[in-house]
Amino acid sequence: MSQLELNSNAEEARHTYFVDVILPVPIPKMFTYRCPFDLEDFLQIGVRVIVQFGHRKVLTGIISKVHERPPEKYEAKYILDVLDQSPVVFPQQLKMFQWIAEYYMCTLGEVLNVALPSGLKLSSESHVQIHPDFDMYESVYDFSGKEELLIEILNKNESLSYSDISKTLQQKNIFSILKSLVQKDAIIIYEEIREKYKPKKEKRIRLNSEYLKEGALETVFESLSKKPKQEEVLLFYLQQVPIYKQTKLNEQGIPKSLLAADLSTSAIKTLTKNGVLEEFEITISRFPDDDQETKPVHLTEIQENAKSDIIENFKTKDTVLLHGITGSGKTEIYISLIEDALAGGSQVLYLLPEIALTTQIVTRLKKVFGNKLGVYHSKFSDNERVEVWNGVLSGRYQLVLGVRSSIFLPFDNLGLILVDEEHESSYKQYDPAPRYNARDVALYMTSIHHCKVLLGSATPSLESFYQAKSEKYGLITLSKRYGNATLPDFIVADMIKEANKKLLKGEFSSVLLKELQTSLDNDEQAIIFQNRRGYSPYISCQQCSHIPKCTNCAVSLTYHQFKKELICHYCGYKEKMPNACEACGSTSLQTIGIGTEKLEEEIVLLLPDSKVQRMDLDTTRSKNSYERILKDFENKDIDILVGTQMVSKGLDFDHVNLVGIFDIDRMLHFPDFRSYERTFQLATQVSGRSGRREKKGKVVIQSKAPDLVIIKDIIENNFTAFYEREINEREIHRFPPFTRLISVMIKNKDVQLARRAAQRLSNLLIEQLGSQRVLGPQEPVINRIRNEYLMELLIKLERGTIDLKKVKSILQSAANEILEEKDLKSSRIIFDIDPY
Ligand code: ADP
Ligand code: ZN
Ligand code: ZN
Repeated sequence: MSQLELNSNAEEARHTYFVDVILPVPIPKMFTYRCPFDLEDFLQIGVRVIVQFGHRKVLTGIISKVHERPPEKYEAKYILDVLDQSPVVFPQQLKMFQWIAEYYMCTLGEVLNVALPSGLKLSSESHVQIHPDFDMYESVYDFSGKEELLIEILNKNESLSYSDISKTLQQKNIFSILKSLVQKDAIIIYEEIREKYKPKKEKRIRLNSEYLKEGALETVFESLSKKPKQEEVLLFYLQQVPIYKQTKLNEQGIPKSLLAADLSTSAIKTLTKNGVLEEFEITISRFPDDDQETKPVHLTEIQENAKSDIIENFKTKDTVLLHGITGSGKTEIYISLIEDALAGGSQVLYLLPEIALTTQIVTRLKKVFGNKLGVYHSKFSDNERVEVWNGVLSGRYQLVLGVRSSIFLPFDNLGLILVDEEHESSYKQYDPAPRYNARDVALYMTSIHHCKVLLGSATPSLESFYQAKSEKYGLITLSKRYGNATLPDFIVADMIKEANKKLLKGEFSSVLLKELQTSLDNDEQAIIFQNRRGYSPYISCQQCSHIPKCTNCAVSLTYHQFKKELICHYCGYKEKMPNACEACGSTSLQTIGIGTEKLEEEIVLLLPDSKVQRMDLDTTRSKNSYERILKDFENKDIDILVGTQMVSKGLDFDHVNLVGIFDIDRMLHFPDFRSYERTFQLATQVSGRSGRREKKGKVVIQSKAPDLVIIKDIIENNFTAFYEREINEREIHRFPPFTRLISVMIKNKDVQLARRAAQRLSNLLIEQLGSQRVLGPQEPVINRIRNEYLMELLIKLERGTIDLKKVKSILQSAANEILEEKDLKSSRIIFDIDPY
């Protein structure tokens, strides 16, 4: 046989492979691409590929299927490159992404988009920079000519965009070179310049290696005999770095700050100038492995019993609810369960609703789990997120503490998920899609990972408690605080009586003021809770009652005194605080209602000797501001902490013996079927910050309706009474957990069109679902946001008996029908499953 024939036969036997790729774009279908022969060996489900999308875009996607069927309707394009040698996403996760897309009615691409950190989504919009730890001469890898050239260019530039590089290298497809450099840890890739990776640097000092030679040091000491300060520096150095034991120790040196702390800086300078010491810089990892000693926990007998009950329940149930009052030691029990799970070789995911809660818990967990702990949250930059993602893949992190998005991390051996504060609404993502609730996804995850879920809360959601009561979940109760701590005493300040007797000072009742003064006198700390930021929710003209509103949304503008601005809390629109009414020109403008800023100001006036700090969205925007405020509070540099719901949970401080709760009436009257539940939760949680140690704490609630039965429940910490009443209401009015809700929001820039689309949609749905199940359309309380008019339909479905899949497909086709109509096309229709 000739050479030629051989080749053609081989050609015939060859298969052409196609792959289905999930792309992080909101498009319903998956895309099929063709695999070039030279990449065939790298095809695997869960690896990332680079593909052309549309004419100009290049995107990273995930292979979800490998097959040999070419698409029928279009000609498949080639994959440009395969980025990974092993999967970054496992089959279990792909299954979960699929489930989320179906359950929450969104596209798989939208799920992938929030799931993958941007650092893993190389695209034509990516930016590239040198990896801060990279040193070409120390690298164990070899570099091609092109790679060296790119490194050289990047060394001269802070960062370059994809197209800059393509131009400079005069090469259109630069993915393979970028991929190779990423693998060699030479560069990093990120999506937006804003997120730029800022390496942490440290200045260090070491002995010039000349002086490691025999006898060299003695000579130096002789020459320094009349220079005691320099001598001292050198001696201190040798004490810290015992080079006589091992000269290698000198390489790492010591931090300059350590040397400069007590010793003369000019002496250090002189020694460095004379070449005895040398200064150098190193980059430190953002997640340093520290050598802290780890400590096991010791549970009390009550806690130990609770733990064994939990384990016993896990034998027959996937989910257990731990209902334990604040300070009962739920966290300690979690830690103990984590120890067991890790010892058994499984991974553990510990979910927290908010970043504010992590600081203290990270410290507690670090003590026990050291470097096995990875922390994942939204205030981290892309690269930090990628580091955690890869740490889970590589097995470095067996335990991850994270906020809701950490459910997407690539676990392949998950044994336990802890959902702390399971009742929190921040587990729910409202915008953009996927509008998922991480607690509920965790419950689903039990079926794919065969793991267990422990829900924990002092104030469980009615849903979870109902499930536990119906024995779907296990239920474990802890009703005693750890140690000698007890729940605080409550005082309700009757705001109407106080007003009549003219006892109020600003927004403060005489009762609360007196308690605050006592707290200051005793050198204790207090927390003031007001769930509204800014100075006042609105301002109003005393002459004509005009209230300034947002130009884009149907809401009043919140006055922020610090910036002298009126700000929209929905779209961020701002304007300067006017001097006179825009309507009538009068200068008598009045602030109405209270925000944290106003309370802070009043405390400064009423208790001039106190140190006050505010903790809300406005004071915690920068990355470490939470930590800073908490640290100051811990160190008692703050007497009174004023804050929004951020101060309500998780905080565990020794000296807080007073909590003041403002505006509880407003929370109760919020038009939402959950307002009582939320108020009970918030008030109980924030009260739980008081008196967590030996001394009994106090809570003052300011209310105009102190006799309301729910206030009584809060004061008596009577969750059961509250639950029984509330669950009754829910049943009567057909609200969750007795029904399932789907909110359908219709948006249009034109108010008439929004209304018409909503009405049409409502008619279509009533035809198929019946009028019992379709409520509305109605205008939501805030009916315009960012210049779009809103209309809402509420779908109420009975539980258990209804075919949810079918309902969703009815909803989707009805929506599609509306969106195909010529004049209604401009509308947007958004589904939100379990919206509250
Ligand atoms: P919860 O999570 O239920 O609010 P925590 O676990 O934060 O309660 O416990 C409250 C306080 O009591 C914490 O300071 C915690 O360190 C302490 N504590 C609870 N249980 C123990 C224990 N078994 N050993 C030592 N300290 C404990
Ligand atoms: Zn607005
Ligand atoms: Zn006016």
